[in-house]
Amino acid sequence: MYSIRLFKIMDIPIELHITFILFLIVIIGLSIMNNNIFWAVLFILLFVSVVLHELGHSYVAKKYGVKIEKILLLPIGGVAVMDKIPKEGELKIGIAGPLVSFALGITLLIISQFFDININGNPLLYTLSLLNLMLVSFNLIPAFPMDGGRILRAILSKKYGYLKSTKIAANIGKMLALAMLILGLLSMNIILILVSLFVYFGA
Ligand code: ZN
Repeated sequence: MYSIRLFKIMDIPIELHITFILFLIVIIGLSIMNNNIFWAVLFILLFVSVVLHELGHSYVAKKYGVKIEKILLLPIGGVAVMDKIPKEGELKIGIAGPLVSFALGITLLIISQFFDININGNPLLYTLSLLNLMLVSFNLIPAFPMDGGRILRAILSKKYGYLKSTKIAANIGKMLALAMLILGLLSMNIILILVSLFVYFGA
């Protein structure tokens, strides 16, 4: 709903949510006004990276017979909409996305040491490599709805069963969210505060 379908990759439709399109227009507008297209180019490439991350999850999920309805891009990131997540595949599906981002980040980081594209004095590949590595650390926070939460549950469920593991993982997520909120308020870090709310309600 309220999204535009771009094209299909691996038979999966890639869709842009209306809020994503508005966000993109604002970023491009600001870039033009400031005579600096660096941020617009970076933003677009970041979302290509996010699509690759989601395709990583999707690729492994398909091997477990999961049907992937679409990959939806929102201003805060991407989601691969799946009909179900099989318990036995959850660990591998969860790891696949961060693994793609990590490989991408490291590859870009190495390339950027030899060659980079400078836009208005900003190194494009280097910045993109850091953003991909940040995406990995952000996603590995062991809390829902982050990949780390799913990975944690998959590991726990081997010992405690699925339902109990979900509860444990959700509680760890809530505690982490509270710790981040306190840290965010103390340091007046808006991003940390937003992430903590995101994690709390996800849990
Ligand atoms: Zn992911």
